[in-house]
Amino acid sequence: MTTDRFVEPSPTPLALLLLGRDADPNSETGVECPGDLPAASDPGLVERARAAKAALGDRVFILGHHYQRDEVIQFADVTGDSFKLARDAAARPDAPYIVFCGVHFMAESADILTGDDQAVILPDMAAGCSMADMAAINQVEDAWDVMADAGITDVTIPITYMNSTAAIKAFTGRNNGAVCTSSNAKRALEWAFEQGQKIFFLPDQHLGRNTAVLELGLSLDDCVNYDPYKPGGGLTAEQLQNAKMILWKGHCSVHGRFTAESVADVRDRVPGVNVLVHPECQHEVVLAADLIGSTEFIIKTIEAAPSGSAWAIGTELNLVKRLALAHPDKQIVFLDKTVCFCSTMNRIDLPHLVWSLESLVEGRVVNRITVDPDVAHWAKVALDRMLALPGVGATPRD
Ligand code: SF4
Repeated sequence: MTTDRFVEPSPTPLALLLLGRDADPNSETGVECPGDLPAASDPGLVERARAAKAALGDRVFILGHHYQRDEVIQFADVTGDSFKLARDAAARPDAPYIVFCGVHFMAESADILTGDDQAVILPDMAAGCSMADMAAINQVEDAWDVMADAGITDVTIPITYMNSTAAIKAFTGRNNGAVCTSSNAKRALEWAFEQGQKIFFLPDQHLGRNTAVLELGLSLDDCVNYDPYKPGGGLTAEQLQNAKMILWKGHCSVHGRFTAESVADVRDRVPGVNVLVHPECQHEVVLAADLIGSTEFIIKTIEAAPSGSAWAIGTELNLVKRLALAHPDKQIVFLDKTVCFCSTMNRIDLPHLVWSLESLVEGRVVNRITVDPDVAHWAKVALDRMLALPGVGATPRD
């Protein structure tokens, strides 16, 4: 990266969170962030990050998810969605340090796909994902027991979205299932229906429902929601036996905020607007939109759009802001009227990045993400089943 791209950190538009100093036993991560963080007001943070990165040279590889803040993304060697970044990490076996500017489940996937001699570092351990947190492994195993009692586990294939913990991916691998991303969910569901008669889809109900109904032609009646906070998931054995898609009742707290009213409102405000949304949005939102697709699809669609076209985008605000700045010849607006950052993604800020890089310069590996070997094995089985789907391709390490 050229040095003239570095920018001073701007104040966060929202007083977001106190940067992960406290433990949360109910979160995906649930640990305190140790060490002395530099003050966010330190005017030398950009220079310190630049100097630490230069001192580490090729020994560090920094990954930046599309939803990260500008102050962090400027230091990323590569940017992308969670799947692309995990593959990018696997393509750098020579880098002993992989600094993952994203959330916890992404760093887990990078650890699973990289070598044992490589350390994957999450600058703030409190950067979890509320969707991943909605499916705890004990809840999912209890649900599988409920399905066993209903006599359906032999014909049910679990599919988990990439946005899940390593433990859930491992559960899927152990039980003959696979991982999917928002780009290949259709192919994963088709594959699963070739292996069995029904699918247990985790943890995002909306991606599961939208893909099954809009891309596979199932009906809404074919889908049921399994609520882990209700006895038996809130479903009878007959409902489980009749369903084709058993959807875990989880959602993304960012994409779940958009409503059909948001779409109607932006159509009133911006004549001729094209509405482009992520498939983690609610079903009625994707029905009202013009185009639906993954983060990478959204970026490519905007890049290919004609000059002068108008777009309302329903995804995380950091990405929408960057797209608007990169395409001043197109009118790009955020789908919702209210500010809608991913609060956990935003936990990775410049003080945490500086702290993790400077610690590496001093020879201290901080906030290393390590996945239990047995969990990693079965999660890799589920990831490899996804990679074997037609058109998805192998990891660079394979
Ligand atoms: S945008 Fe949604 S799915 Fe992505 S990290 Fe944030 S809460 Fe999780």
